[in-house]
Amino acid sequence: MAIAPKTDRTSLRVVSDAVCTFCGCLCDDIQLTIAGNQIVNAENACELGRADYLGYRAELQTGAMVHGVAVPLEEAFAKAAKILADARFPIVYGLSESVGEAQRMAVAIADRVGGCIDTTAGQAFSQSGMAFQSVGKVACSLGEVKNRADLIVLWGTNPTESHPRHADRYSTKASGLFTPNGRKDRHVVVVDICQTASAVEADQFLQVMPGKDFEVLWCLRALIKGVVVADSIGARTGIPLEKLQDLANRMRSCQFGVLFFGSGLSATSGGQMNVEAATILAQELNEFTRFYAMPMGERGNSNGAENVVAWQTGYPCAVHLGRGYPRYNPGEFSVSGILERGEADAALIISANSVVDLPQDALDHLAKIPCVVLDCTSTVALNRATVAFFVANYAFETSGTVCRADDVPLTLRPAFDSPRLSQTSVLRGIDQAIRAIGPRI
Ligand code: SF4
Repeated sequence: MAIAPKTDRTSLRVVSDAVCTFCGCLCDDIQLTIAGNQIVNAENACELGRADYLGYRAELQTGAMVHGVAVPLEEAFAKAAKILADARFPIVYGLSESVGEAQRMAVAIADRVGGCIDTTAGQAFSQSGMAFQSVGKVACSLGEVKNRADLIVLWGTNPTESHPRHADRYSTKASGLFTPNGRKDRHVVVVDICQTASAVEADQFLQVMPGKDFEVLWCLRALIKGVVVADSIGARTGIPLEKLQDLANRMRSCQFGVLFFGSGLSATSGGQMNVEAATILAQELNEFTRFYAMPMGERGNSNGAENVVAWQTGYPCAVHLGRGYPRYNPGEFSVSGILERGEADAALIISANSVVDLPQDALDHLAKIPCVVLDCTSTVALNRATVAFFVANYAFETSGTVCRADDVPLTLRPAFDSPRLSQTSVLRGIDQAIRAIGPRI
């Protein structure tokens, strides 16, 4: 294995308008100060983003390995291509820590080898994503929220701690065209099962009983239409009827309202129904005003993964391309299920982090089949892989496109030139080697 020479970069240099990928905000105004191989300051970043930047360490391993032995890249491309092309049921998995260009190349490989492609976003997709497929999505850009929103409802989310700059850049505190006074021009309501830091900062906090979000959302649907609701709703949900009536009135009479929801609403049992209820509520509020229901967004580029797979195949995740056309069926074609049932006979894993949340049965099967793994750090999964590629860190060392929670694409500005190939280049090399083998019979 080649050891990359340390670059001599002793003087300070600055990278402006870098994009932080630590949370779904994807703040694109970060000013990085770099000394040698380290980031020494990340101006504008919050504590979470700053820790991520300052924790960056350049990896020295480069190149590729086959069965733990360093080999030339061309040999690794050929071996990876043979594994995937010979497989009866190959899977391509990961993509949430990849730029759009690499995600697109991964879809091309899955198509070429007749495999199944799924994203780590797909693991959580069964909740909010399935809801959007059932009832649609009522969304706007975060720029519109900043410039127009006078009512913001935070449901099952605590952005003060999870998305620290959301308030200042896009929502509750941001000054915009029609909200020049920022926080003073907005009414902020938090609905959650316990008092969070965001609840303390809000104008109103409504504490809902665990598992009763759906009932409250359905009640709000009734109240905005003037339907009489029994007082007993308070005892059943934890929120008195008069407070729900007040929120319903505010929702109807605001100029521009947004309900941001987080995992407290979508990643619970019944999460799909909760998101459907929130979305239908937003749809129905548009009879009276402008109203939207949007997810807060996840770390990395999981939103981009869904968008690219949908753009390329027509479906956002769990897509089987083995018949020459895309078939979509979460569960049947979700990578976790395919592995648990022992169906896959080869895997292309993009970022070893992708597999950590898989069920144990899936991990056990993954350990038995040949795996091609791309990662930027030397993990156990990478070192055990049949073919391992040490790739550049997508967030710090490559350019490319990432997708914010509101589906706005942003271009990464790399802090460093990496001696390692990008994910996109490695995937392109594998794709070319598969093409060199010839068409599947
Ligand atoms: S809010 Fe999120 S994206 Fe913005 S700097 Fe903090 S961690 Fe990074």
